[in-house]
Order: sequence, then structure tokens, then C-alpha cells
Amino acid sequence: DADLADLDPEIAAKIADELTRQRDGLEMIASENHTAAAVMQAQGSVLTNKYAEGYPGRRYYGGCEHVDVIEQLAIDRVKALFGAAYANVQPHSGAQANASVMHALIRPGDTIMGLNLAHGGHLTHGMKINFSGRLYDVIPYQVRPDDHRIDMAEVERLAHEHRPKLIVAGWSAYARHLDFAEFRRIADAVDAYLMVDMAHFAGLVAAGLHPSPVPHAHVTTSTTHKTLAGPRGGIILTNDADLAKKLNSAVFPGQQGGPLEHVIAGKAVSFKIAASEEFRERQERVLVGARILAERLNRPDVAKHGISVVSGGTDVHLVLVDLRDCLLDGQQAEDRLASIDITVNRNAVPFDPRPPMVTSGLRIGTPALATRGFGEQAFTEVADIIAEALTADAEADLSDLRHRVAVLAAAHPLYAGE
Ligand code: PLP
Repeated sequence: DADLADLDPEIAAKIADELTRQRDGLEMIASENHTAAAVMQAQGSVLTNKYAEGYPGRRYYGGCEHVDVIEQLAIDRVKALFGAAYANVQPHSGAQANASVMHALIRPGDTIMGLNLAHGGHLTHGMKINFSGRLYDVIPYQVRPDDHRIDMAEVERLAHEHRPKLIVAGWSAYARHLDFAEFRRIADAVDAYLMVDMAHFAGLVAAGLHPSPVPHAHVTTSTTHKTLAGPRGGIILTNDADLAKKLNSAVFPGQQGGPLEHVIAGKAVSFKIAASEEFRERQERVLVGARILAERLNRPDVAKHGISVVSGGTDVHLVLVDLRDCLLDGQQAEDRLASIDITVNRNAVPFDPRPPMVTSGLRIGTPALATRGFGEQAFTEVADIIAEALTADAEADLSDLRHRVAVLAAAHPLYAGE
């Protein structure tokens, strides 16, 4: 069999370029990570050849004896990791996991509530042109203008007024803990299901460094590739046996066909890693890094350029930077950091006057750098580099900052064996 480089040199060259890009730059997109080489090994295996519609022990195809063991290991490991009674590890992505839960629990035309996309919610929590916004009647809730925290009194008021069938708690751009018990109390009071989407903070939950939604939610969903640092994919957890049955049939055959057993093997490997002491220590550095970043960006010499931190700080792995009063918009700030090899994404801030393609904010995350071994000192240096870049004059020469990024990258090698 021909090697990739011989068979398809164009693709091989771009994979090599991407490895170089990840190695030489600093990845600070809050939803990204560097998964373990062992996870990629599992994903790049012969498991990709196998059809396995159904679930372990109940497949619609022959030859599933090995993938059955693999998928059961993934299920057992993720249940133990999050203290859940039931797990489905087949969703191809976080969006598929959320679609499956809605497919299982509610009907088209039902009312759902979710955090407004412009205030940090996810597309699948009710955005207009997403399936969630097209199939369901969406009542979004928001953050308060003064402290940028979710207004639980508004959540309660809207729930009583609109009687949703499902309340979604979870976020893609929000830097604070959610009150899961309060969400459940509100859901119970209006006879709604509570779905918590912990995609962003699942790794912190696994490490015991963030409150767990699993005891509170009827159903918890997650991606596996963000703080959790596994392969790209989704999972669904519940403690309720009846719901578990409905969720399984909503994933297959409701939403998906054959499961991606090579990805499920990668998930199993990542759950094993996530249960380790090394992983817990890494997540501690994730949090330390985000706190340092928030502190450095809150300093008066930065604030005087019209830069502030949404909600004043962070409890999690990311910092939302508010540029509404700054000369730079979100696009310009993203480009400025890209020019010194720091990758972040522009992001709307609550009450953003600019359109979504421009925005007045940045979302900056620390998981990928923590995976590379960044600790307090390196995070302080990167926070200072970011602050200097964002406050520099438009025509300033940033080559010194770019050099400091290169020094940090070289000191924290990535995929040394590749
Ligand atoms: N849920 C949340 C909270 C997310 O932030 C994301 C991705 O950004 C998803 C779901 C969707 O995950 P995926 O991109 O795997 O579909």
C-alpha cells in the first residue's frame, strides 16, 4: 500500500504544514486543544473500515466482536469519569449530540430556552437558521448588562411565561460557572427537561475543578475535543434509565447511521487520560493561565486603551475580551494576534454593536497551551505579549513580540515524536 506522501503529496504536504503551524504558533482558540498522539493513533486505525450500526452486543452487522469491546470501554470509562449511570458515545459531534437529545425529548414546534448566541450561547441552543431554531420555538435568555452574568431571575420569569419543554444551559463564550441546581429547580417548576451542554468545560469537570452538571441535569451533552482533549466528537450522559433508552434510539437510528468506531476508540483513550493525575494537574494550569490572562488584561495600562474583560474575570479556561471602547474591532484584534503567531477567534460580546463577522471581542483560551506544558511563568509571558500587541500603535513593529512567541513555542515542543 502506498504511503500518503507518495500517493497524495498535496495532502501530505498540507498535513505537514499544519503540524508546523501548530508547533510554531500558540493555539489559544478556547474550543481547541492538542489531542494525545495515542488518540490520533486510534483514530487513524483500521477501525475506520468497520460498520457497526447498533450498540455493543446488539449490532446490525457481523464482525463487531472487537469494536463491541472498544465501544463498551468508552462507555464504561466516560460513565466513571463523570459519575453518570448511562452514556452514549456515538454522536459524531457536539451538534449531533444536541440534535439527538432534542429528537429524543421534544417534538418540532415545542418551545425551548437557551442562552442567546450573541450572549455566549451555541448555534444548537436555538440560533435561527440552525436546526434548533428551525424546528423549535426558541425563547432566548441573556446576560445582565452590568455584570455580564446570566440573569437567573429572567430565566425563571421566561420559563413561567413560555412553559418550555426543554431548557438548555451551557455556552460557547461565557467565563463563569452556571448554577445547575437553580436551572433544575426552574425546569422542574415548569415541567421542562434540563439539558446541560458542558462541551466547553467538560475537561474541568472531569478533573474535579468545575461543578458537575451531571447530578442536576436530566441529560448532559458534551464534545470530546475541547478541554477534554480527545478526538472531535460528542457524548450524551444521563442518570435516568428511561431517558437513556430514548437517547440511544434518537442517536441511532434517529440521527445517525454507522458509528465512527475509530473515533470512539480515540474517545476511550482520551477518557483514560482524563482520569489521570497528569490530566488533573494540566487542567489546574488551564485555570491558572486563564486567571493570569484576565488579570493582565484588566490592568490600568491596558484598560486605558478601551480594553476590558467581560464579567471582570474568569472561572474557567477562557477570557472574553471586550473591545467595544477600543480602536481595534474583533477582526483587527484577531489579525493583530495572528501576525505574531497567536491564534484566537474574534467573538461577539454581550450587547455588541458590530456585526457577527466583525464583532467587538476576542475569545482567548488556555487549554491547548496547558497541554503543551505552559505553567504560571509562560502564561504570564503570553498574557503580556497579548496585552502589548493589543495596545500597540497601528503602525508599530511587532517583530519583537513575534520573536517572544517563537521562544515560548520552542520551549514547549509539540508532538516531539512526529
Ligand atoms: N456545544 C457547545 C457549547 C459548543 O461550544 C460547540 C462547539 O463549538 C458545540 C456544542 C458543537 O460541537 P461540534 O462543533 O462538535 O458540533
